[in-house]
Amino acid sequence: MAVPRFHVAIPLAPAAVGSELALPEATAHHAVRVRRLATGDALVLFDGAGGEYAATLTRVGKRAAHVRLDAFVDGVAEPARAVTLAQALVATDTMDTIVRHAVELGASIVQPLVTARSTPFPAGAHGAKRIAHWQAIAVAACEQCGRNRIPAVANPVPLAAWLALREKSRIGIVLAADSGVAWSQLRVGAGDLDVLVGPEGGFALAEVADAQAAGFLAVSLGPRILRAQTAALAALAAVSLTWDDA
Ligand code: SAM
Repeated sequence: MAVPRFHVAIPLAPAAVGSELALPEATAHHAVRVRRLATGDALVLFDGAGGEYAATLTRVGKRAAHVRLDAFVDGVAEPARAVTLAQALVATDTMDTIVRHAVELGASIVQPLVTARSTPFPAGAHGAKRIAHWQAIAVAACEQCGRNRIPAVANPVPLAAWLALREKSRIGIVLAADSGVAWSQLRVGAGDLDVLVGPEGGFALAEVADAQAAGFLAVSLGPRILRAQTAALAALAAVSLTWDDA
């Protein structure tokens, strides 16, 4: 059985290896009450800044739990290429799925976008709560899949603003079924990548043209029209398998 992994919301340092520390209350609850770990059990901790710590549960109290940090392991399970998934907003539960699987497939940022046909996003506290919810999904996905750097889920921005602000040195791919260019024809060099995916109603014609004017390559994933989540995850899997991890 895989050793259970927990994100801790406190900074850890390799210099602390060999010492004992109190787990933050939420992590202690998760480890002891939810995952039912007991004194002497092995676990892995990571703080999201890179690297992870092999640890042993040393003391369990009513609300608190202590661990000993046994060893630091640098840079596990991070892809070589930084990939941003720029996803036009779709329904919240579909975004939940996209965020979870995008993290597993190696995305380093999920950038929700407002487009002509995207799903409305609430303003103010309601919107902030939704981003926090997606960020928590990203943390849980990292705990599950072995990544140690937590991908950011950014605040939604309009497509035009994002195209204007993104780094021009990055490779851009916009998914468009009618582009006439198959994924297998794509030739991309080394470098970080932005993958742009439309909402369930698709991009407006001008939006694909705007992305192309900003240097994006328009690419088809085949003759079938995929749900937005299927398209996003198929593209991320293709990036990971053909140009990165595999
Ligand atoms: N009726 C919409 C249209 O024709 O554009 C369908 C949109 S589809 C449900 C959502 C998004 O997934 C699209 O905007 C596109 O980015 C991506 N997508 C779906 N199928 C695709 C395919 N075969 N090739 C490339 N992208 C695809």
